[in-house]
Amino acid sequence: MTPSARADAAPPTTDVDDVFTRPPLAGRHVALGVTGSIAAYKALSLASRLTQLGAHVDAILTAAAAELVRPLAFQALTHRPVALDLWDPGGAMGMDHVALAHRAELFVVAPATADSLARLALGLAGDALGTTALAVRCPIVVAPAMEPRMWAHPATRAHAATLRDRGVVIVGPLDGRMASGERGVGRLVEPDVLIEHLAAAIGRAGPLAGRHVVVSAGPTREAIDPVRFLSNGSTGRMGYALARRARDLGARVTLVSGPVALPPPPAIEVVAVESADDMCAAVLAVAPDADAVVMTAAVADYKPVRYSAEKVKKQPGDLTLTLDRTPDILLALDAALEGRSRRPVRVGFAAETSDLIGHARDKLVRKRLDLIVANPVPAAFGADDSEAFLVDAAGVEARPLGAKADLAGVILRRLDALLRARDARGEGAAG
Ligand code: C5P
Repeated sequence: MTPSARADAAPPTTDVDDVFTRPPLAGRHVALGVTGSIAAYKALSLASRLTQLGAHVDAILTAAAAELVRPLAFQALTHRPVALDLWDPGGAMGMDHVALAHRAELFVVAPATADSLARLALGLAGDALGTTALAVRCPIVVAPAMEPRMWAHPATRAHAATLRDRGVVIVGPLDGRMASGERGVGRLVEPDVLIEHLAAAIGRAGPLAGRHVVVSAGPTREAIDPVRFLSNGSTGRMGYALARRARDLGARVTLVSGPVALPPPPAIEVVAVESADDMCAAVLAVAPDADAVVMTAAVADYKPVRYSAEKVKKQPGDLTLTLDRTPDILLALDAALEGRSRRPVRVGFAAETSDLIGHARDKLVRKRLDLIVANPVPAAFGADDSEAFLVDAAGVEARPLGAKADLAGVILRRLDALLRARDARGEGAAG
């Protein structure tokens, strides 16, 4: 970083209780329904993870679930009473059978047996789980787990379809080995994956609800021959963190990703690409009609002029590769938007080894961006933390070294303000 960068950098804003930077489940009331599948033991780790993430978890066990896992274990993990019986005046449900429902901001049933799916679909309210299901007005997520034949049965399929039609999010079940030893579709989704669906569901009505955000991430690969390519060290972490956070703030997210080692984030449409040309085509296919485009991808600037279909053989002496420029995706997008009154908000990234702010300002203007995020390299590559400067026409906001997930929230807060400003100018309608 240059001394001048420090001089004109504004201090960071405080993020306490900010919806953009707060972890999505922190401080939220989650009702966790557990039913009588042997996968109920995984609900203990779900309850534990949710509690660690700062959620207030009210576990509700059916009588069958309580045969398989001890209610006390849920109580110990969540530090809260467990609801078991509608008729126990001392229980968590007390005298008010909808007490949990009123405070729930999210209702998750995991695992959900075939019987509980049927009860939920029919609206049966004979136990604490059933009454809660009817009384909540928050997002409902159901993670089925059962023998593959039971999941495949038309009755179960019909109940799942009914619940989906009602807006319930059904996650899984997965294909794999069952406790019985049988293989098939019926396994409960893993708690960490389920938690991502929960974050997406609780954020559905967030500030980015109704927005379509396109994020590009990772490097591109420019093939030399069938086994070699030109690329760079981008891991995609910043883009994946941005895509997740945008999803958890309510946006529909399309993630155009170069080759990375990260698993595809749940509840996000991922378009996998290899080369800069592929990425350009994928971005141009979705971005013109999106509300915002965030280009975190480290796009290769050059590609080999000639691709060798045969593996290039070693020879004595030097090897010269002639390179051609790849398309500049942001400029190509700008050209594609020519004449449109509605243009997506555009955010770029600039990874620089020198004159960070100077180069970022130049790119902001040249690529006609609304905002550019400048990172010093190589420090930001591959790390979980990043230092950044948010540069726009008005000035520079310095962000000290912090988690990429937090930086994602800060960038999306700026994006939200840009979208609102665009709406206020009357550029919200397609045209
Ligand atoms: O590589 P450069 O520093 O120019 O990248 C600045 C911004 O432009 C980044 O957001 C990057 O994703 C984007 N870019 C692009 N097409 C390229 C190269 C970069 O859209 N060919």
